[in-house]
Amino acid sequence: MLNIILFGPPGSGKGTQSIKLIEEYGLKHLSTGDLLRSEISNKTPLGLEAKTLIDKGLLVPDEVVIGMISTALEANPQAKGFLFDGFPRTKEQAIALDKLLKLKQTEIEVVLALEVGEEELVKRLLNRGLTSGRTDDTNEAIIRDRITEYRKKTSVVADYYQQFDKVVKIKGEGTEDEIFAALKKEITKRLHG
Ligand code: ADP
Repeated sequence: MLNIILFGPPGSGKGTQSIKLIEEYGLKHLSTGDLLRSEISNKTPLGLEAKTLIDKGLLVPDEVVIGMISTALEANPQAKGFLFDGFPRTKEQAIALDKLLKLKQTEIEVVLALEVGEEELVKRLLNRGLTSGRTDDTNEAIIRDRITEYRKKTSVVADYYQQFDKVVKIKGEGTEDEIFAALKKEITKRLHG
């Protein structure tokens, strides 16, 4: 199996690059943001609870997203591999993911960390908010709160995987194709030593 984490702050291009990567490598895309938005649009109790947090720029509880990922892994026993996008976002989520993958006798191959400066992130997210219909993308203060939440709780996920030598930093500014090429180069290196 080939399991990849696409890592980076909100607006770093994880969603855009995920679509290209799943196509290139035949992976199953698991985005907790997409899974949560689907719960919200179906107005499930979980979705309603998540929406109040998401609209404040806060993370939803670990047990909620870990449960969603566990269900998604179970639901895809034939997958060639998984691309995790927006998960794990805390160290607890990372530890839970490692356990879930171990049960499947597999592991994370590489964490590809997209790096983009804060002002560029804010610009991209406000721009996305013009068309995405995402309420968390329309207000600059909420966007900055999401970036703060990332610094406080999520950036440590890179340190966690760094101890296993799994993190590769990728410049997330440039054209979509340039960034995709840089991601592919790192995956090739990992696959062929
Ligand atoms: P972005 O990374 O562009 O902010 P996402 O679609 O990945 O967008 O996530 C949107 C929101 O959903 C996050 O701000 C957070 O509130 C919630 N969320 C998504 N994934 C997780 C997660 N793994 N843990 C906790 N909250 C999450």
